[in-house]
Amino acid sequence: MTGRLHFLYHELRAEGSEYAYVMKTAEFARQMELFQRLQQGGGAGLVPEVTFDDGDVSNYEQALPVLQQTGVTARFFITVGWTAQRAGYMSSEQLRGLQAAGQKIGAHGWTHTLLTHCDAAQLKAELLDARLKLEDELGTAVTTMSLPGGRYNQRVLEACREHGYTQVFTSVPQASTAADAWLVGRLNLVGGTDLAWLEKVLDPASGVLAALERKDKIKGMAKSVLGDTLYAKVWSIVNRSEPEAGAGA
Ligand SMILES: [Zn+2]
Repeated sequence: MTGRLHFLYHELRAEGSEYAYVMKTAEFARQMELFQRLQQGGGAGLVPEVTFDDGDVSNYEQALPVLQQTGVTARFFITVGWTAQRAGYMSSEQLRGLQAAGQKIGAHGWTHTLLTHCDAAQLKAELLDARLKLEDELGTAVTTMSLPGGRYNQRVLEACREHGYTQVFTSVPQASTAADAWLVGRLNLVGGTDLAWLEKVLDPASGVLAALERKDKIKGMAKSVLGDTLYAKVWSIVNRSEPEAGAGA
């Protein structure tokens, strides 16, 4: 039984950036060449899968051409309230363009608010309204959701199920074995990732993924000790990213 490991990307730029959430397009292209080879059965380890969060315009402008060249299919999780509203994010036409090119689309909330901070009415807006709006724009069912900031608890997961999702993507670096798993772990990738290291991550025998999982558990404990707001500030200083981008999703 071969497992899968989902990776999480956010934004690509041709020239790169000091922000950890941005990856150079050329680096992404090298990773997709590796992933294409591994997806075709070129490795004995985990099969890599690609996801993007937030709906940055570079997903369409920079990532799509690379995916088409390498034949890799990605899943794009869209912050629905930012679509066609916020500078730097995709338009509805671009979302339809991704779909028409065979790429997959899921939801990433309406406003990117951490769902653990939402009451029932806010959860409905972030989950149900976002899903229905995306379905209107795409003309197909949307049943996958990725959690803003990777934050969830039992109440959030119950709301996801209640509002029509069949699969929820987290930011916990974990491989999945069943294609239809309810919770799907992901490993967030930042710019400047070593390709040889990436191959090791995909090889369970290397122990690299298991070490990342342990580190993530410690991070989870730091979050519960510091609280979300302070944790996000510390995280943004360490990673030179904007707190709004969330810690890991
Ligand atoms: Zn996000």
